[in-house]
Amino acid sequence: MDPVKVEHEVGALIPQKEWTNLSQRMIWHGRRVCHSRRPACGVCTLAALCPSVGIGEMDVMKAKALVKVDADFR
Ligand code: SF4
Repeated sequence: MDPVKVEHEVGALIPQKEWTNLSQRMIWHGRRVCHSRRPACGVCTLAALCPSVGIGEMDVMKAKALVKVDADFR
């Protein structure tokens, strides 16, 4: 993948005033749900749109246990 190409493609879809918000949301989604080692795909709100759905845990109960909440970051 070419990150610069992806950046331009995403930038064309989202109004510029929302770019920082989108970036923050993506970071937090990664921290809470889409972990690099074991994504919680079974409870992910983006699953219907994600081309990588299924690389992580798909069992809902097991996926739910993987989700981090705000208290986990304190
Ligand atoms: S469905 Fe996609 S975005 Fe969601 S946790 Fe799985 S890999 Fe990440």
